[in-house]
Amino acid sequence: MRNSLARYDLTARMTDRTPSTEPKHMSNTSIRRALAQNLRTDSLLGVRSVPIPSGRRGRKDKDKRLKVLDEGQVQSCTKCGLAKTRTKTVFGQGNGAARLVFVGEAPGADEDRSGLAFVGRAGKLLTDMIVAMGLTREEVFICNLLKCRPPNNRDPAPDETKSCSPYLMEQLSIIEPEVIVTLGAPATRLLLNTDETIGRLRGRFHDFYLSDQPGEGTAIPLMPTYHPAYLMRKESEKSKTWADLKMVLAQLGLPVPAR
Ligand code: URA
Repeated sequence: MRNSLARYDLTARMTDRTPSTEPKHMSNTSIRRALAQNLRTDSLLGVRSVPIPSGRRGRKDKDKRLKVLDEGQVQSCTKCGLAKTRTKTVFGQGNGAARLVFVGEAPGADEDRSGLAFVGRAGKLLTDMIVAMGLTREEVFICNLLKCRPPNNRDPAPDETKSCSPYLMEQLSIIEPEVIVTLGAPATRLLLNTDETIGRLRGRFHDFYLSDQPGEGTAIPLMPTYHPAYLMRKESEKSKTWADLKMVLAQLGLPVPAR
């Protein structure tokens, strides 16, 4: 998948930094090379992310593109066996131009019935977490790695993850969030391409690249944290997730609400 964010940033950077004597038309390869060099330089200088100018955010357009993806591809998907057992696909919902996206694992029974992400018990806890951050569910975007419920809520199988993950990647490339929060191991491991445990990964930001070329394109800060369903079983870990979410607020430049 080509990274539209990367293409945008390059254009902006080339306009800003290229002397007027430079040839006006550059090949895609030169553009990509120049971008990679820019990013390496930024990274050496400690730049972790580049803010997306508000002009790029166009909510109407993003909502529309998400709708086309959902109605044109996800709802009719038969790429894996879950198509036979699902009631409804669960695309995810919220603000198509959200600054913050939450990515869970897969729909459960309530989500499978309603077609909406995180509306069961775990969803209620996720709502509480979002409200504690001073935000609403409508302001953020909430989705899952899998768009269909695995029978008996079992873990996503490798072939299901492989078939379904392009939908998540497409969602993220449309939304272009400033921060991603992954809830639980499956989404975290997929997006960070690692087998590490959440316990080891949470508590700090990781760079997520939409591009299929490692290190190419703009890094989106990704914060892994515990899944709300896990937190319901292990209340003592809630404070760790709250610490993670406070770091997310700081990254977004938002205040931590008084509790
Ligand atoms: N758990 C998830 O990961 N996603 C949902 O939508 C509901 C429960």
